[in-house]
Amino acid sequence: MRRHLSATLLRLSKPSLWENLRSLSAEQWLDRRALARLHDLRLTATLRHAVAEVPRYRDFAAGKGLDPAAVSHEHLAEFPLVGKQSMTDEQASFLADDAGADDRLTAETGGSSGVWFGFFFDKRTKEVRRAGDLFGRTWAGWRVGDPMASVWGHRGDVAAVSTARGRAANALLHRTVTLNAYNMDEPTIRDYIGRLTRLRPRIILGYASSLAFFAEYLDRHGAHAIHPVGIISSAETLDPDRRDVIMRQFRCPVLNRYGSREFATIAQQCELMGGLHIFSSRLHVEVLRPDGTACLPGERGEIVVTDLINDVMPFIRYRTGDIGMLAAEACPCGRGLPLLASVEGRVSEIIVGPNGKYYSCQSPRLFGSDIPGISQMQVIQDSIASLEIRIVPSAAWGEASHRLLVERMRGLLGDVAVRIVLTDAIPPAPSGKYRFTISKVSPFERPS
Ligand SMILES: [Zn+2]
Repeated sequence: MRRHLSATLLRLSKPSLWENLRSLSAEQWLDRRALARLHDLRLTATLRHAVAEVPRYRDFAAGKGLDPAAVSHEHLAEFPLVGKQSMTDEQASFLADDAGADDRLTAETGGSSGVWFGFFFDKRTKEVRRAGDLFGRTWAGWRVGDPMASVWGHRGDVAAVSTARGRAANALLHRTVTLNAYNMDEPTIRDYIGRLTRLRPRIILGYASSLAFFAEYLDRHGAHAIHPVGIISSAETLDPDRRDVIMRQFRCPVLNRYGSREFATIAQQCELMGGLHIFSSRLHVEVLRPDGTACLPGERGEIVVTDLINDVMPFIRYRTGDIGMLAAEACPCGRGLPLLASVEGRVSEIIVGPNGKYYSCQSPRLFGSDIPGISQMQVIQDSIASLEIRIVPSAAWGEASHRLLVERMRGLLGDVAVRIVLTDAIPPAPSGKYRFTISKVSPFERPS
């Protein structure tokens, strides 16, 4: 009954949300060629709209001598790459002429790159994105009306639902219980566990570090009454160690989701937990070399995204600052959506050595998190030849651990100066995300 009521509410309150969810669900099973054809049509429509209605792209087409009516998906590579900075500095030139003020919803992103960025999107985009998020949940085993839990680390995410109507929608429509995994005390977490035990969430969503923290907490307290059928880890890199901790506790698949404020979900693992399926119904993803040419499948590069939905402020060839690679193989699940083999984190999280090798934050163990005496660590790259490593030590920390850690770093990176700083705690970034690595040097300006 409750399930039926929730489904009805969803349909009545947001008809396009429901329709979008249905079409995304149907489209995923089209074969790769049919899906690619549909995708090309949408990309062509996006580019034509941009050159017709958006001053920046109108000027671009005029400069190139491109006939707007003849622009197609095949012209994409000729379009300029854009970034947060240029879209901020020249915002007016990226806004479509035909968008009414009522269509313009605003969003903003700040976060790890340090560049504040306000941008616009329309109501259709909002609905399609929400449908995309629900669609991704279905891969973890969630169905409309199912209860769900989330474990975030960001005060803003927790406080976002502040109106009575929002809380009611959350409780009934999405049936979500939310925990802020930072700044919490024993009574808060015990209350949360009690609520989850009663609610029996079908899936749990959260930051990788928050989920791992929560899983460890439950394990330490012998609490094993929460049995989701799937977990979605998002917003942070899901390294194998964290995935193991989470899977050991909950004994269900842990799916990695990759997204951003600008685009919501970009790609997500299906239940087979292999590559991340790109949400290609509403996004086009390229992976590019530092010189701007396309990487081959299996070759690491920067992820660049074109939004196929947002007509108000089209994002065309937007540099995400994230590193990843396309997969050569299709996923055995049979979905026609293309695959990213991996997303290795932000450019600002990639550590590079003077020896030219580079490492993503997916490998805490490789960096020495398994060395005795280290209960938590963070690697900060100040320059190509110097690192600071912050350590929260345990009782086993000593001279031998110090020496092992320095040797480990030099073995990986070459001749690098290592400064070790012992501390009581490593707080999360203002966004609430815990960052294992922080790099202050762009990998695109480094030797390779
Ligand atoms: Zn799959």
